[in-house]
Amino acid sequence: MKYKELYLWGRESLEKAGVGEYELDARLLLEYICHTNRNTLLVHGDKEVTGEEEEKYREAIALRSNRIPLQHITGVQEFMGLEFKVNKHVLCPRQDTECLVEEVMRYLCDGHRILDMCTGSGCILLSLLHYSNHCSGIGADISEEALKVAAENGANIAAMNRLNPWDEKTVKWIHSDLFSKVPEEKFDMIVSNPPYIASSVIPTLMEEVREHEPMSALDGMEDGLFFYRKIVAESGKYLAKEGMLFFEIGYDQGQAVSEMMKQAGFQEVSVVKDFAGLDRVVYGSYR
Ligand code: GLN
Repeated sequence: MKYKELYLWGRESLEKAGVGEYELDARLLLEYICHTNRNTLLVHGDKEVTGEEEEKYREAIALRSNRIPLQHITGVQEFMGLEFKVNKHVLCPRQDTECLVEEVMRYLCDGHRILDMCTGSGCILLSLLHYSNHCSGIGADISEEALKVAAENGANIAAMNRLNPWDEKTVKWIHSDLFSKVPEEKFDMIVSNPPYIASSVIPTLMEEVREHEPMSALDGMEDGLFFYRKIVAESGKYLAKEGMLFFEIGYDQGQAVSEMMKQAGFQEVSVVKDFAGLDRVVYGSYR
């Protein structure tokens, strides 16, 4: 079968199955299986695929038609220009979260200590470490399975940093229910993308997210603010003087989370919008 014919079959199958981004997903899955890129469809659509590739592609399209997230089929997600391994135990890194990383980068200095609370795949902490000098940090998560993914991502990204090699202190992963097992030290930055979807909103999420991503990474309890309350209340103890706390938030949580931070003694509390113009990040500094 020709490459383009197979693509058109995949595209039609995903469209029939009601997959939103059927064109893109059909192409990305084919590129993943055939180790090709976008040009192949544009310029080499006549190329024959092997029987094995065709069979693998048909399997991948069947999975995607059943709403398995694209990233769970390919096993990876790009974030901040880096490739992260993902599986069903971690939230797939989202573009929205790049907004959080970029905001932290504006204030991050060489040598800073960072705590990433609810680290999941480790994508936030690892991007910060990759794009800075001599910083180090801890990624904490309640899920041991997530921490295995984070550790693997950490090893992969550490291996990229040959000019500025990481040592054993650069990144540590801690199995911890919020701060319970975090060592008592002072961090310069605490960053977190905690679960923040109100429980009542969970049933309205896309099937891919609702059925296949870890609920423990999404459910922010009754009003979605449960984890912000806990983290805001405890982070003062773990922040250096003038240390900063950064959160990713849901589009309607800017006011509630900034109020919470001001009441806990944070100063210069700011809300930052994402590229869609929605409130996405709240941060402040602790004195
Ligand atoms: N932004 C994610 C979503 O909408 C939720 C992330 C989170 O709860 N931390 O799926």
